[in-house]
Amino acid sequence: MLTYKINNKVIGGLLIDLDGVLYIGSNPVEGAVQYMNKLVERGIPFRYITNTTRMSRNSIIENLRSMSFPANREWIFSAPMAAKQYVIKKGCKSVYLLTGGDVRSDFEDLPLSENVADVVVMGDPGEDINYKALTRGFQHLMDGADFVAMQRNRYWRTEKGLVMDAGAFVAALEFASGKSARVVGKPSVDFFNLAVESLGVPKESVAMIGDDIETDIKGATDANIIPVLVRTGKYREEEVRSSEIKPECTIDSFPDFEQFEQ
Ligand SMILES: [Mg+2]
Repeated sequence: MLTYKINNKVIGGLLIDLDGVLYIGSNPVEGAVQYMNKLVERGIPFRYITNTTRMSRNSIIENLRSMSFPANREWIFSAPMAAKQYVIKKGCKSVYLLTGGDVRSDFEDLPLSENVADVVVMGDPGEDINYKALTRGFQHLMDGADFVAMQRNRYWRTEKGLVMDAGAFVAALEFASGKSARVVGKPSVDFFNLAVESLGVPKESVAMIGDDIETDIKGATDANIIPVLVRTGKYREEEVRSSEIKPECTIDSFPDFEQFEQ
């Protein structure tokens, strides 16, 4: 089997962020499809680990396949999946879901409700969520509902440039309600642990490849996973330079991971 070494650390498995690492919008990063297929062929254990809250797991798979990336259900770990697992574990009886896209289908078998809620689950509102829906969420929080954020990313890069992510909207509801959200996607250590457990390799040999210093790199560091930053997607040099969070190494783009092959 192909092996990798980063600064003398042997890599036995990979966690790979999607947006900004493998593709931007609907455009694969140059060489990323070929390199991803090479990883599969060589049998290196990996998981896709994403904070996207606009796509259900099925849509993530379809989206990857439409760009010729290898994809199947077991490889995907998404923030909505983590939120769902949390809600089930907590035994919540009615869920108010605040997110755009088709993520609702991931929650189909849960008791979703507009009118009563013991938990408000929030993702990136996309273009579907308006003031009325946010206010309904706020009212549920004031009536005692728990607050779960799928993630609280600041922004992400689309084909049309940088756009706001869930973070500012989560902060708005926190500010109005005085209640803090529990973040279940990246950078939550539980989320990383869950993905690593499914890999079946020792945690200290797992590397995380991401473009986000706050979620991918900080989260991996906190979870004792080797963080590798790429200079694609939302990477901004000035942000990285001024940050206290430091990756193990930085590569220009995903296929450059090849340099660590032994
Ligand atoms: Mg990303």
